Order: sequence, then C-alpha cells, then structure tokens
Amino acid sequence: MISEEKIQKYNDWLFRKSAYDMALSIIMTDKMTVAPIGGSAYRDARTAYLSGELFSIVTDPEILEILREMKDDNDIDPDLKRAAYLYYKDAMATVCIPKEEFVSAQEIFSKSYDAWLEAKTKNDYSIFEPWLKKVIEIRKQQYEYRKSDMDLYDQMLDDYEPGMNREKYDVFFNALKERLVPLIEKVCAAEQIDDSFLYQEYDIEEQKRFSNELLKYLHFDADWGYQNETEHPFTNWVCENDCRTTTKYLLNNVASAILSTVHEVGHATYEHDCDDKYDGMILSEGISSGMHESQSRLFENYLGRSYAFWEYLFPILQKHFPAQLGNVTAKQFTDAVNVSRRSLVRTEADELTYPLHILVRYEIEKGLFDGSISTEGLDETWNALYEKYLGIKVPGAREGILQDVHWSDGSFGYFPTYALGSAFSAQFTAKMREEIDVDEALRSGHFEICIEWLKEHIHKYGCRYDADDIMKIATGREFDVNVYLDYLEEKYTKLYHLK
Ligand code: ZN
Repeated sequence: MISEEKIQKYNDWLFRKSAYDMALSIIMTDKMTVAPIGGSAYRDARTAYLSGELFSIVTDPEILEILREMKDDNDIDPDLKRAAYLYYKDAMATVCIPKEEFVSAQEIFSKSYDAWLEAKTKNDYSIFEPWLKKVIEIRKQQYEYRKSDMDLYDQMLDDYEPGMNREKYDVFFNALKERLVPLIEKVCAAEQIDDSFLYQEYDIEEQKRFSNELLKYLHFDADWGYQNETEHPFTNWVCENDCRTTTKYLLNNVASAILSTVHEVGHATYEHDCDDKYDGMILSEGISSGMHESQSRLFENYLGRSYAFWEYLFPILQKHFPAQLGNVTAKQFTDAVNVSRRSLVRTEADELTYPLHILVRYEIEKGLFDGSISTEGLDETWNALYEKYLGIKVPGAREGILQDVHWSDGSFGYFPTYALGSAFSAQFTAKMREEIDVDEALRSGHFEICIEWLKEHIHKYGCRYDADDIMKIATGREFDVNVYLDYLEEKYTKLYHLK
C-alpha cells in the first residue's frame, strides 16, 4: 500500500493545482464576459504563462509516479484510486507536449478567439481563416506527440466522450439522418404554428427582471452561482460552490435568453450536486461532455419546453410583458417555443433540427482531420452542407461558419457530444417520468423534485463512474438512440398533427 508521505505529497499537489485551475478559470470567464478587449495582449501573455506553470505542476515527474502507483493500488480507497486514474490519464495527454509549445499554443488560442470575434463582428471569414489553419496544425501536432495507435480525430472524440470514435458516431448519426430527415420534411409540409409573438420587441431590462424569477424557480442560488452576459453562453466552475453561468439577451426574441438560461443552469446544477465527499477532487466534475450536455438539454428541452413548465412560468412572464403576451395562452406559448423550422444558427435551433446542425460540424471536423476538407473555402463547404441537410441557404459567414466559438481554441471533437447528450437525456427523462410526477412538480413550482431525482440517479456520481455505467445505474439499461428518436417522432407528430 502506498505510503502516508506520498498521499501527503498528492494532497499538496492537488491544492497547488486547484489554485492555478481556479485562477485560470476566473481569467477565462472574465475574458469572455466583461474584460475590455484593449487589455487582451497583456492579459493573454500572462494567462499563457500561468498555463505554463500549471503545465509544470500537472506533469511533475514525482507526482506522475505517485499517481501511477495510486491508480494501480488495490488497497487504497476506491474513490482515491479512481481520481488518481483520471488525473494520470489527463497528465499523460499533456506531458508528451514540450512545455514551450504548450505555452505558445495557449497564447495562439487566445489570439485566435479574438480573431474569431472580430471576424464574426465584421462578417468576414477571411480574418479568421489563417488562425483556424494555425489552430488545426497545433492540435494535430499536440495529438501526434501522444504517439497513440488511435486515429487522430478518434483521439479527440475520445477526449470529450471516452469510448466514442468515428465508427460509433457514424452509426449514431446515420440513425438520426434516417429518421429525422423525413420527419423534418413532414413537419415543414404541415400547417405551421404561429410563433410570431415571440419575435416582437422585448425590452432587455424587463427580460432580466423575469430572468431573476426564472433563476429562483430553477433553484440557481446566489450562494453558489452568478450569472453574467456573453456573446456565446457557457457555464464555468471557478471552484467548489462558485459557478459562473452566462446568457445572451436578444431584443427581438424573448425565448432565446430564457432557454439558454435554463440550459446553462442544467450544466451548473449537474456539478453543484455531485457528492460533497468529492469536493476538491476531479470526481466532483461531470464525467464527459455528452453527459454534461445531457443534463443541460434535459433542463432546456425535456423540462423547459414542456407545457407543465410554462403552466407555472407563463403567467409570470405575461406580467412582465402584458402588451406582447396579454392575448397569448400558456398552451400557445409552449407550442411556439417548440416550433421546428429549418434555421441557420445552432444555438437558436429547435429541438428537432438541432442534431442536423451537429451533423454538419461532425462531417467538417472529420474532413479537416482526414485531409478531405481544407480551411480555405471552408465557408463555402459549410454553406453547401447546410443546403444539403437543412435545405437552407446561408447568407453570410456570421450566421454560417463563424457562428460558433469552439474551433477558435481548437475544441475539435466536442460538437458531436451535443447531439449525443440530447439523446442521452431522452432516456434519462423517460426513466425520471416513470418514477416521479414530473409535470406536477413543474406546474406547482417544485422544480427541486426533478433536481432531487437527477441528483440521486446521476449528479451525485460526478465522474466516479464512466458515462455508460451511469446510464445503466440511472435507467437500468444501455444507451439506445431509439428512445430519443421515438420521443422526437411522437412529440412532433402530435404537435404538427402529422399522419
Ligand atoms: Zn451546453
């Protein structure tokens, strides 16, 4: 069994590492919300330096040896053993990269983010293209250092969703294509639902006042969470009991900020509700991107777009916007937030067409890494795929290739987990609905009943177990994409009175 002295060293290391993690997390959140752009160059250089310090901590050879010993030690506490395994795995992916290259990459990713933002603002892909090219080259190089037998893009997919690869995603996306493309065609041909009232002018300050009530309903508590605004909503954990979430208000779309808030609070609640005994260690984080997204999508789509949810909240929203919504019913409002139509922007997409937005990104990523697609003219490739799968013409790069932040810092392999997560949540929700009266909880203002179920069956485990094990623990069966597809088919057949 491992010595007390080594365990002490491990604990000291964990404390040091978490201090840097915390600092970098708050700097990142700040950069993406309120930090003035003028300070970018100064900040980015120092942020990169801090990343380098963290790199040295994570890859400390003495610690790597201790972690290796701990992960193979059957006599230590199983939680500790699991944590050591996960830290070791992360460290091995980092230690192979030369430190100078790691640090300079962090700085390039920061600059690339700024270039993306400028390109998006100016609706000009050519500003971002050279940066995207550079970022891809860096990522390729970083993965090559691992000297893995696995294909490069498969490694990226596995990093975000352990166990997933192109072969499995191809099967998943083919199932989606097969059943969703014809369903979307039927929905488009059906009589359309009036949702025009969502797109009137909604004063942003008034939207914020409603949002405060929404956050209360969702039990997003100021004791552990803070909401800010950003270009591209995200949630970030700074440290235990300090979660930063974000949203984006649009003057002419009342549902956008609401649903993005519900989504992000799903992410926030997941990690907040991990078992307290995992505090301060990796086990208190979400297990995978897909699992994280399953919790945010569960909040957003399976609860936040349900009639019961709006039975409680719509009268409150109506009070904030009597002129816009005075003559609308909760039922009409719910139907409106579920309208499906072919659209350009992923984050604004409805539940039914959403996975096809992901399919486009998955095909592009595969192509970028197998060499069949180049960054030059990628805006055109993007537009062609949108026409192919979503039947829609992209008017410009802002609504096209530049709409998402992810590729600016080299987060390749991440997008597919969005579609996978949506599918996971169908199965979780089906089980939750078997066991508790979800609608009654929502309509009576007791959202915490759903939170409790999720905590007990999913959240409390953090990353103590792999995603597929948590799926089995929570639902009693393996993941099955058909649960998701059946759900969508049933929901949209009813909503659009399809035959
Ligand atoms: Zn999300």
